[in-house]
Amino acid sequence: MSEKQAPFWETKTLEEMSDKEWEAICDGCAKCCLHKFIDDETVDELAPTAVIFEGEQVHYTNIVCSLLDTKACSCTRYEERTKLVPDCVKLTKDNLGDIFYMPSSCSYRRLHEGRGLPSWHPLLNKGKKSKMHQLGMSVRNKVVYDHDVELDAFEDYIALWPLEDID
Ligand code: SF4
Ligand code: SF4
Repeated sequence: MSEKQAPFWETKTLEEMSDKEWEAICDGCAKCCLHKFIDDETVDELAPTAVIFEGEQVHYTNIVCSLLDTKACSCTRYEERTKLVPDCVKLTKDNLGDIFYMPSSCSYRRLHEGRGLPSWHPLLNKGKKSKMHQLGMSVRNKVVYDHDVELDAFEDYIALWPLEDID
């Protein structure tokens, strides 16, 4: 009797994955589409930034990029996203060092830190995102669009739920 083969995310490092495998690791939570801010000790106030250094505190908000379909939690302009939204973070094998920028539940971050995929991941649920949504691990029903809010008032939108991780 042949033994069941372990899935690729258990046998390969992120760097060893094919492009297709790499894309499949994304759980589609869309937390990376939330606006984030950092605490910078060299300035007195919180401010939006595109640059972050390891060890700095990241504050997530519930303000989301206007290109996101907030029900499906998918980008409406995926192919052109980095052109249309210059600070859209596209995680690749080349910028894995910046992974601390991602929420701790991000599946790339989990694998990078040796924590495996969570039980709600679509790869473990017949490709479906429903368990992730049910458990509140995506942005669905929790966000406002950036074009609907005054970004200067971002402190009013700081949220803790994006930092949650389970499993
Ligand atoms: S946070 Fe990570 S796993 Fe979730 S959508 Fe973004 S890149 Fe994909
Ligand atoms: S452009 Fe798309 S992938 Fe990038 S932050 Fe906006 S919704 Fe997310």
